[in-house]
Amino acid sequence: MEWVFEGGRRCLDLVNTMRDRHTGGRELLVDADALAEWLRHGGFAVDVEEHQVSTVRALREAIDRLTRAVSDRCPPSAADVALVNTTSAAIPAPSLHLADDGSLTLVSGERTLDSVLAVFAVDAIELVTASPVVRVCAAADCGIRFLDASPKRNRQWCSMARCGNRAKARAHYARRKLSGESPRGGAGTR
Ligand SMILES: [Zn+2]
Repeated sequence: MEWVFEGGRRCLDLVNTMRDRHTGGRELLVDADALAEWLRHGGFAVDVEEHQVSTVRALREAIDRLTRAVSDRCPPSAADVALVNTTSAAIPAPSLHLADDGSLTLVSGERTLDSVLAVFAVDAIELVTASPVVRVCAAADCGIRFLDASPKRNRQWCSMARCGNRAKARAHYARRKLSGESPRGGAGTR
């Protein structure tokens, strides 16, 4: 699977499990196995049942609409806010494990899918209340979302390797075509 973890936030990485959003979308969380694999890559080893896949997709789409609305300074939907809130309520408390030798270790509480989803919901809550700039990759055939944390808030691409270099190559080719294949037109036109 072509997982990408370039959203800059885990809630945006979840959003990016729907790819090609510009062209109707391509679902990567196709079933429970795919979801479990994606979660494992994100550091969460929990069991997933088939009926839970639609729950995850619904949260993902709510987070997408919410983060886009906040970024675009539009009013978010009350239903999306409510879904994020009910999901975050299952945030697991950490606990202590006391070993036979008397040592203590922290046990994180993310043992069920619900508690993992709560972690994503809390991440989304923290993100949308921090005046984020969430962008959609500028490549017309990409659609990946990412948090723009660049100093001038002017990042365009999800990653240079995936989209930035392709776009630069296309622009270079277009400039050369415009200037009649002459390499002279390739530079200094900005
Ligand atoms: Zn991209």
